[in-house]
Amino acid sequence: MTETVLRDASRLQTARALLFDLDGVLTPTVEVHMRAWARLFAPYLEAQGAAAYTDDDYYLSIDGKPRVDGVRSLLTSRGITLPDGTADDPAGEDTVWALGNRKNDAFAAELAENGVAPYPGSLDFLTAALAAGYEVAVVSSSRNAEPVLRAAGIRDRFEVIVDGLVAAAEGLPGKPAPDTYLRAAELLGLTADECVVVEDAHSGVQAGRDGAFGLVVGIDRGVGAQELLDSGADVVVEDLDELVASLR
Ligand SMILES: [Mg+2]
Repeated sequence: MTETVLRDASRLQTARALLFDLDGVLTPTVEVHMRAWARLFAPYLEAQGAAAYTDDDYYLSIDGKPRVDGVRSLLTSRGITLPDGTADDPAGEDTVWALGNRKNDAFAAELAENGVAPYPGSLDFLTAALAAGYEVAVVSSSRNAEPVLRAAGIRDRFEVIVDGLVAAAEGLPGKPAPDTYLRAAELLGLTADECVVVEDAHSGVQAGRDGAFGLVVGIDRGVGAQELLDSGADVVVEDLDELVASLR
């Protein structure tokens, strides 16, 4: 257990809006990604006669990397070399991009079949915040934010979503740049100072700090409380239910 670090959450009282990261803040999306990677590579490696795919492969070769870099890294670990191909290769097995696109299909299938439950504490916090009249938005680098929110049953709670698709369409640089968070504030008709950023990653906390938001809440899902404070979090909790009582 990491010790909760509450420097000063009183700013929550006067804030107008809460801007939530998605993966690791509202939903444990990494679990869906891990199942999708296994769904892709377990049969693929078996067909290649290579060593079986395990969750360790996820942490060693895939975690934290852009999708195609993860594919390439995993293949390298098994001594398999494929041409890179291009982003619009149809989902298949003959190029790195084709396998990456198959991973995306596997992610969609996992979501459709098994869904993803929001973190209970985050759901409680979101519900309490909406009841208290806060505006809310989702700011995610993911291009899968909409299907993840739908699978989690919370899509209809957000009028404003700035995700990877919006960022690409509008030419917004991703986190750690503050632009996607600033865009969400703008879409809500608010200033950064009126908004609270809620993040679980270094990059997102940095975006909150550099965007001069009213408060940056870090959730320690494993990064470490001190590390999140060092990146610019004002408050660090292990779970958002700790902050329900700090809402107005
Ligand atoms: Mg996150």
